[in-house]
Amino acid sequence: MADTGTKAAQKKHHFEFFGPHGPALLVFVLPAVCYALILGCNKDSCLQLWPELKLPSLQSNIQWYSKEAIVAYLAWFLGLALLHVLLPGQRAEGVVLPDGKRLTYKLNAFRLFVLAYGAALYFGFYTRQLDLGWLYDQFAPLLTASVAFSTALSVYLYASSFRKGLMLSGHGNTGYPAYDFWMGRELNPRLLGGLFDLKEFCELYPGLIGWALLNLGMAHKQLTTHGSVSNSMLLVNVFQLYYIVDALWNERAILTTMDITTDGFGFMLAFGDLAWVPFTFTSAARYLVDHPKVLSPAGMALVLAVKALGYYIFRGANSQKDMFRSNPNDPRVAHLKTLKTERGTSLIVSGWWGTARHINYFGDWIMGLAWCMPAGLTGLSAIVPYFYCIYFAALLVHRERRDEHSCRLKYGKDWDKYCALVRYRIIPYLY
Ligand code: NDP
Repeated sequence: MADTGTKAAQKKHHFEFFGPHGPALLVFVLPAVCYALILGCNKDSCLQLWPELKLPSLQSNIQWYSKEAIVAYLAWFLGLALLHVLLPGQRAEGVVLPDGKRLTYKLNAFRLFVLAYGAALYFGFYTRQLDLGWLYDQFAPLLTASVAFSTALSVYLYASSFRKGLMLSGHGNTGYPAYDFWMGRELNPRLLGGLFDLKEFCELYPGLIGWALLNLGMAHKQLTTHGSVSNSMLLVNVFQLYYIVDALWNERAILTTMDITTDGFGFMLAFGDLAWVPFTFTSAARYLVDHPKVLSPAGMALVLAVKALGYYIFRGANSQKDMFRSNPNDPRVAHLKTLKTERGTSLIVSGWWGTARHINYFGDWIMGLAWCMPAGLTGLSAIVPYFYCIYFAALLVHRERRDEHSCRLKYGKDWDKYCALVRYRIIPYLY
């Protein structure tokens, strides 16, 4: 039972992530999931659910730690940080902060990506002077290095957030140490006299570029071990590369996201950016190194069709809402039926937004399914290659509940009317 203090704080703050003490568990569970994915599927064995249950061997000789991985990880992070500071980049202003000021950001993520990815392609695949397969061999030690680094960074961020005069995040300043450590107390921690924004850097640079390089390393390992890169490996690399390049090219867009404007910088984002994204999203490519099966033309066509369907829904729905919000008289959206709300804005109740309240999430998830299918189709019974779309489904369901909560606060009774008109949350006729 919650004590009086907890009850008072719970009234004042809206606690997510299983309440004020939940994050104390999450900081162990999430790294454990990363390790479980490696233990659950590696070159020695892979968890299989059917036709018969096969558990992975716990006896496998996985190396979990190496000095070279620690050195390489530190060199990677610090090298990128140095290049970010030294190389030119566009300047952009963030949103207006609660104190009325705006921070300036330096944007050169795409430039650094081209340098790092270009060098890896040239020296790894063209001149073959660089053994990118090392990233596969050292996958677990590199994960350990990133978990250790992101944890140390989070401890530093938490400790340094008690300095006077800092702008704190409303979400991460509850007085519950585990919760605040997880959510992040300080809103925009910066180094070098305010020149280097730690949160924006970690959100896009080491994690996303690292993810692309890890995938490339898996492809290289497959090439050197099996003599060629399979079409399934190629699809996984290309699909995920497109997503990464899009995010880096549109770096400015991150400045208006909740991560930058509202959330503090704590373990959730530091671990998520530096360890979770690069080391779990690469599960499909890592699986394909050891299961280098080639997709049939029908399999290829199916994967491409699923990807195209997901993109059609995702892009169609998001563009329809963006167009409507920027100009409701635009001939492409003027015909849509709408519900006028007391708040002043209208909600679309036909077209994509009449099928489900977050039909855009459904399209996004279908694209995620297409990321996993090239690996999944080559070994339907294994579960690890499907990790991304299982995790993404949970994330989108949770996010839909969060958005529903904030829309109910924003729109009041109008939101109930809207829900009666558009009954499904994410999947038409199902959910
Ligand atoms: P949405 O783009 O769905 O935006 C939700 C907001 O849109 C609501 O708060 C409301 O704001 C407005 N809205 C809701 N319904 C309607 C309607 N019927 N008519 C007009 N406006 C409406 O949510 P997100 O910002 O969460 O997602 C954006 C995209 O990012 C999605 O495609 C999602 O899939 C993707 N995403 C990807 C993630 C990843 O990890 N890859 C994580 C999270 C999201 P208001 O009324 O105030 O305008």
